Amino acid sequence: MLERRTIGILGGGQLGRMLALAASRLGFRAHIYCPDPQSPAFDVTRWHTCAAYEDVGALAQFAGAVDLVTYEFENIPDATVDFLAARKPLFPSAEALRISQDRILEKSFLAGLTSVAPFRKVETREELDQAIAAIGLPAVLKTTRFGYDGKGQRIIRVASDAESAFSELEGQILILEGFIDFTHEISVIVARSASGETATYDPAENVHRNHILDTSTVPASVSHETAARARQVAVEIVSELDYVGVMGVEFFVSKYKEMPKLLVNEIAPRVHNSGHWTEAVCVADQFEQHIRAITGLPLGDTTRLADVQMKNLLGSEIESIFDGAQDLRQPHDYGKHEPKPGRKMGHINRILGR
Ligand code: AMP
Repeated sequence: MLERRTIGILGGGQLGRMLALAASRLGFRAHIYCPDPQSPAFDVTRWHTCAAYEDVGALAQFAGAVDLVTYEFENIPDATVDFLAARKPLFPSAEALRISQDRILEKSFLAGLTSVAPFRKVETREELDQAIAAIGLPAVLKTTRFGYDGKGQRIIRVASDAESAFSELEGQILILEGFIDFTHEISVIVARSASGETATYDPAENVHRNHILDTSTVPASVSHETAARARQVAVEIVSELDYVGVMGVEFFVSKYKEMPKLLVNEIAPRVHNSGHWTEAVCVADQFEQHIRAITGLPLGDTTRLADVQMKNLLGSEIESIFDGAQDLRQPHDYGKHEPKPGRKMGHINRILGR
């Protein structure tokens, strides 16, 4: 009898769903843990636990039912991570997760390796003034934790914006970052296995709408040199962390010659929305790659077979998923019940040419 290992996945959103599908294609079982009874990932696997992340009894049972644990989102409580990591192998590691959960830790780690926007920790109104004096304006004030899709961020263009930006975010530890005038935002999906093998995909060029990713287009309209450098930086990041799994690395491509060309904005210790295009045009997509990396399989082939554009379908846009010409389009509906405005409901990968 073949041994069928079970992969525990924390989080039941679309990323968990796509990971579960990839796991089952490779012959593994996926067991999803998520407090939301309507989790899209529950629909694609028989094994799931619907319980709070703080429910120690449910976590213990989950740990007993799986061979290893991974996750599809960053904001997992520390105690949950520690509880599970003490019982089963956790990939990516608790350390990688902790660094990416906190913008100060993340930027400090990245600054030791590569270029990032200038930044300062801000806890008081006085510290904000000091940070503005040191960094200059415009700048972006962000919460250090739990920010996503532009939430918990305020741009400070002129000194008089500081007061309202601070009062809106006050009460949390903040970070002030220099505003980067960029020509493009790009991202690299990188994978590393426990043996140190690494693989990267071509950088995607990302366009946001209302702070939410709208499209990822590949190839990105940057030079070969910039694309190669971005891939190299991504490999340096995962190697430095002794990372196991897939990571999304987001970059700004700066406008000005006097600045470094590439600045890392943030890292996501998981499969990433800007890597969904790999489903349609890569031999091994990012979801398969993550499963391979965390289970000790050799990494898959990241060759891109065609040019492609991924478009997110937000809210009621999901209703038009099958509208228009269907040729060279790969639709993906996450099966969510409520199309709330701004909610990621699905995406379309449109193949642009070979
Ligand atoms: P984040 O949550 O840090 O990924 O930021 C969300 C989006 O805000 C980014 O994709 C950028 O478009 C914009 N942004 C964030 N930080 C900066 C910055 N320091 N300079 C310019 N734009 C930024």
